[in-house]
Amino acid sequence: HVVKLGGWVEWRLAMQLLEMELMEARTLLPDPANEFDRNVPRICGVCGDKATGFHFNAMTCEGCKGFFRRSMKRKAMFTCPFNSDCKITKDNRRHCQACRLKRCVDIGMMKEFILTDEEVQRKREMITKRKEEEALKESMKPKLSEEQQRVIDILLEAHRKTYDPTYSDFTQFRVSSSSKRITRSSSVLTHGSSSEDSSDTFNCSLECVENRMFSNMALNEDSDRSPPMDINLSHLSMLPHLADLVSYSIQKVIGFAKMIPGFRDLTAEDQIALLKSSAIEIIMLRSNESFSLEDMAWSCGGNEFKYQIDDVTQAGHNLELLEPLVKFQVSLKKLNLHVEEHVLLMGICILSPDRPGLQDTSLVESLQDRLSEVLQTYILCKHPPPGNRLLYAKMIQKLADLRSLNEEHSKQYRCLSFKPEHSMQLTPLVLEVFGNEIS
Ligand SMILES: [Zn+2]
Ligand SMILES: [Zn+2]
Repeated sequence: HVVKLGGWVEWRLAMQLLEMELMEARTLLPDPANEFDRNVPRICGVCGDKATGFHFNAMTCEGCKGFFRRSMKRKAMFTCPFNSDCKITKDNRRHCQACRLKRCVDIGMMKEFILTDEEVQRKREMITKRKEEEALKESMKPKLSEEQQRVIDILLEAHRKTYDPTYSDFTQFRVSSSSKRITRSSSVLTHGSSSEDSSDTFNCSLECVENRMFSNMALNEDSDRSPPMDINLSHLSMLPHLADLVSYSIQKVIGFAKMIPGFRDLTAEDQIALLKSSAIEIIMLRSNESFSLEDMAWSCGGNEFKYQIDDVTQAGHNLELLEPLVKFQVSLKKLNLHVEEHVLLMGICILSPDRPGLQDTSLVESLQDRLSEVLQTYILCKHPPPGNRLLYAKMIQKLADLRSLNEEHSKQYRCLSFKPEHSMQLTPLVLEVFGNEIS
C-alpha cells in the first residue's frame, strides 16, 4: 500500500508518521515490559509528580508533558527570576518556567518528538485509513457460510452417531479362542516385548517401537512360509474377530454415508457402488482415531482390544499391506486433523466420482466438490498456522494413499477369501461388500 499513497514524498511522510505514531503509542500506552527494561521509576523526571509514561522521550507527568509541548509550539523564551537553578517540585513547578523547561531538556525531552498540527491531522487520517483497511481485510477473509456450517454440523452428528469412542460393542465380536494369548506370549518370549509390558514400550523411542514391530512381522511372515511352529498362525487365529470388527465397521460406514448431505439423492445402485469401493478406505481412515503413535497400535479399549500389526497378520494380511497402512496411520495422525476435517475427508472419500461402476458421476462430482469447498474454507478460517500449511493438499494426498491401500487390500482379500476355510469365517456383509470368490 506504499505505492497507493503516491510517490516517494508520500512514502517518506508515511514512514515518518508511522515512526512518530509508534513513539506516541509508546507514550500513550506504556508498555510494562519496555518500562521495566528501562528501569525508570514511574515519577516525573521534571517535577517528581506521578508519571504517566514516556512523553517526548522522557518519563513525565501529564502537566510537564503539556508544558513542554506548549512551550515548544510557542517557541517561548523564559527567564529565571532567581539564579537559574530552581529545584522543580510538584507544588512549585508553575513558579519558574525557565528552570522547568531547562529541566525538561536536561532529562532528554526533545521537540522533534512533538507532532505539528498538520502531522497530527495526517496521523489521524492514517489511523482511520488503517482501520478501514483492516475492516476491509476482515470482510474479505473467507468465512464459512451458514450452509457450509450446516454441512459440517450434519457430518459431525453423523460421525457421532456411527463412531463409538468407547468401543463397547467390541465385546460382541467373536473371540479368537485362546490362540491370541498363546501367540502373544510366544512373541513375548521371542522379542522380549508385549503390549502388556507397557513400561518397556513407553521407554522406547517411537522409531524403535516401529522397527521392532516390523521385524516382528517379518518374523511372523517367515514362520508363515516355513512350517509354522505355532499352529495358530496357519489357522489365522485373529480372522473371526477381525472379520466381525470389519463387518461392524462396514455397517457404521454405511450409516455415516447415508447421512452425508446429498448421498441419498443418488440411485441405490450408485450408493452401493460408492460404498463397496470406499468402505475399506473409510475403515482405514476412521481407525486413525484409535491409532496411537506411542505404541503403534489401534487401541480400542484395554489390552483385549488393542490391535498390533501381528494381530492383523493373523487375520491373513501381510506386510505388503500392513507396512504402508501403518505409515499411513502415522502420517495421518501427525496431521492433527480437527474432527471437522476428519469427517469432511471421509465424506469426500466416499463421494469420489471415479469409482468403478458408478452411473451418475457428475452428480457425485458436484456433491464431492461441495464438500471440498467446505473443507478448504474450513481450513482457511479455522485451522491456525503452522498446522494449516498445505493441509488441504496433504489431505488430498491421503486419499491417493488410500487408493493404493485399497488396491493391496483387495488383492490380499481375494487370496484369503479364495480358501473356503477362510471365507466361511467372514460375515455375509463382508462377503457382499468385498466380494465373494466362492459363489
Ligand atoms: Zn512533572
Ligand atoms: Zn528558575
